Amino acid sequence: MDFSKPFETQFADQKLSICEVGHRLYAKGFSSANDGNITMRAGDGYFLCTPTMQSKGSLKPNDIVLIDCEGELVAGAKQRSSEALLHLEAYRQRPDIQAVVHCHPPHATAFAITNRSLPRWVLAEVEIFLGYIPIAPYKAPGTHEFAETIHPFVKDSNAIILAHHGTLTLGKDLEQAFWWTEVLDSYCRILILASQIGPLQYFTPDQQRELAALQSKWGFSPPG
Ligand SMILES: [Zn+2]
Repeated sequence: MDFSKPFETQFADQKLSICEVGHRLYAKGFSSANDGNITMRAGDGYFLCTPTMQSKGSLKPNDIVLIDCEGELVAGAKQRSSEALLHLEAYRQRPDIQAVVHCHPPHATAFAITNRSLPRWVLAEVEIFLGYIPIAPYKAPGTHEFAETIHPFVKDSNAIILAHHGTLTLGKDLEQAFWWTEVLDSYCRILILASQIGPLQYFTPDQQRELAALQSKWGFSPPG
């Protein structure tokens, strides 16, 4: 952030990317009403953040605000999202990630409200892209306690289900953070469909090792 210039004239590409991802989240049905929020690193301990109480379907670049690493508003015309603290907890634990997406995609949120763990080793691309997908325990949204619920999991996974709430995905860039939300919700939809057909068929130990090696080779392993 260059404080000698107005915020409105800075981060034009990043603000546009956030708006585009917001529009896609809304179009996919991942964010009803004002659900969901998106953040991106903006350098020097600052973060771009979507505003509170606004549909992701109508986001415009001037709606995006700048916050510091404590969640305090630094620049922008609106109030920051109430879930910024959750995102900041992820950035604190994961210096390797550049963007975070939180929303309420219906299929993944169905697992969040039934507290059903996601099975491992049934779908190849999920193992390569996401691997372990934990469910973080419930705390009231918007609180420090809520932000801390991801602490035990965030180093081991780029996709976390938030119990009784929704999802959180982390990416090396914003596109990847959005992709992981898509992959996660698609996986949950496939699991729900499969449950109507028959029992899951699991990869053999050799096949599991092969997929784990591919995850590492292609650079999708979280730091752990
Ligand atoms: Zn939420």
